[in-house]
Amino acid sequence: MRKQVIAGNWKMNKTHREAEDFIQTTKNEVPSSDKVESVVCAPFPFLQKLVEETEGTSLKIGAQNMHFEESGAFTGEVSPVMLKELGVTYVVLGHSERREVFKETDEDINKKVHAAFKHGLTPIICVGETLDQREADQTMNHVEAQVKKALEGLTNEQCADVIIAYEPIWAIGTGRTATAEQANEVCAHIRETVSNYVNADAADAVRIQYGGSVKPANVDEMLSQSDIDGALVGGASLEADSFLKLVEAGK
Ligand code: 13P
Repeated sequence: MRKQVIAGNWKMNKTHREAEDFIQTTKNEVPSSDKVESVVCAPFPFLQKLVEETEGTSLKIGAQNMHFEESGAFTGEVSPVMLKELGVTYVVLGHSERREVFKETDEDINKKVHAAFKHGLTPIICVGETLDQREADQTMNHVEAQVKKALEGLTNEQCADVIIAYEPIWAIGTGRTATAEQANEVCAHIRETVSNYVNADAADAVRIQYGGSVKPANVDEMLSQSDIDGALVGGASLEADSFLKLVEAGK
């Protein structure tokens, strides 16, 4: 039985004060980590404080990106070593905003996934199609290629341990959610891809989240699907009340 992972992706939102208030309100209210993994992926400047404040609770902290190198002349970048040192547990990699706005390639993302494992961070790998790709019937091919490239060169055990977030780009921040059936169809295809590319055990173990306009009103339906093991949530993860409802649904 796969444990659900509900992760908030705050993106570039909140002040330090707002971040702290959120954590104080939620850290002792999330369900036990035996039942569901509850994660907040916060901006870099807040990570250290949030990790300290959540120590000993079931609320875990993730980053939203990192470089694949351990150190060096990469002005403005943050390394996996730095994140690990802070006590960060998860890292979102290859979010569509990173791919589109910051021109990250599948190859960069694959390097980052390797770096995450090297430093004991759990990668949340984002994949998903544009509206044009969906309309051209390219969704499955595109997502399959992204998944294979992200997992290239990993051990079978590492493939079983990644979290894959299926986020159709047309559903992000638009209020336009994929139907639960549409989301599950793609998540099932991702699982099949892992089965063919790695093996059946990895496919059975890998957690696949859906992301794109998830909110308390639609999360139950998403999580009830056979191949959806959690959610990666932007807008609806920003308010403590709403985040708590989402993690509660993951139990
Ligand atoms: P929204 O939940 O705001 O649509 O964002 C989804 C997302 O991009 C999470 O990574």
